[in-house]
Amino acid sequence: MEPKFPDKVNLGFWPTPIEPLERLSKYLGGPELWIKRDDQSGLATGGNKTRKLEFLVADAVAHGADHLVTTGAPQSNHARQTAAAAARLGLGCSLVLRGPKPDTFTGNLLLDELLGAHVYWSDTRDCTESIGRVMAELRAIGRHPYLIPLGGSNVIGATGYVLAMQELMEQISAAHLNFDFIVFASSSGGTQAGVALGARAFGYRGSVLGISVDHPADSLKTQVAALATATATHLGLDALSVAEMVNVNDDYLGDGYAQVGETEREAIKIMAQVEGILLDPVYTGRAFGGLIDLIRWGAFTRGQRVLFWHTGGTAALPAFADRLI
Ligand SMILES: *Cc1c(COP(=O)(O)O)cnc(C)c1O
Repeated sequence: MEPKFPDKVNLGFWPTPIEPLERLSKYLGGPELWIKRDDQSGLATGGNKTRKLEFLVADAVAHGADHLVTTGAPQSNHARQTAAAAARLGLGCSLVLRGPKPDTFTGNLLLDELLGAHVYWSDTRDCTESIGRVMAELRAIGRHPYLIPLGGSNVIGATGYVLAMQELMEQISAAHLNFDFIVFASSSGGTQAGVALGARAFGYRGSVLGISVDHPADSLKTQVAALATATATHLGLDALSVAEMVNVNDDYLGDGYAQVGETEREAIKIMAQVEGILLDPVYTGRAFGGLIDLIRWGAFTRGQRVLFWHTGGTAALPAFADRLI
């Protein structure tokens, strides 16, 4: 069954390239490594939220919204991409960020400001409560706010990664390639739900592995499988056995979300110094660090081909400078 994709706005450069990592494959001595460059998606330093936002913003506009509201961590890439998407469409944008207002605005926070977003700090309050207040204030002044959930991870956002799998399958077939594994960072689950469902819908025959950035494998797996199933319904697809496509590894949680350790530091430096490609400190640094460790443990054979899906986040690097060098 072919998915029925809803309308989307165009916010990025598609398809994002795939390229072999020849020097890195040799350096690590494991499987043949490739990378898909969603860090080059084009929207204000790019990243995986661009694909989700193309569908979310289209839905917002279709509902008559004139203002986007979303939430995240202080260095949220999703918040920054949402601010950029709002600017691009001429919509207002309010961001509710977790915790207290920091002393310096750097990395994504600097970009949020430059992109014209209104930034609110939840401080000691629960983010949900702060979001409710911001939504109510906007309505009170006659605006029509549209709430995008954390990470853009609902069925509308996940649709972006179902479409991304169609894009990847076209690249795979044009290049006469196949990938035994697709590996990427997973957190709020929308990316993985979309990839898993797209893998089923478009006949990808390898494995999909999400490296968890902050959640135990069991809970993330349950969440991703539920979202993939709901997204199937949203797109008129058969959800049969999509849950079997959902694999999560939580061996690399370290000291928790956004706590940069040796795993991330080493992965970022290896990718930068062997391939000239930047990873980010929170997501791709951790996921690629996990992949390096799996290669060292012999989880893949030499003849296998592994695609690392770069989900972006490099705008956060300056905010973690003291832990990176
Ligand atoms: C949000 C994000 C992820 C995780 O994507 P989810 O859909 O939330 O699982 C991975 N990498 C980067 C750089 C991100 O910003």
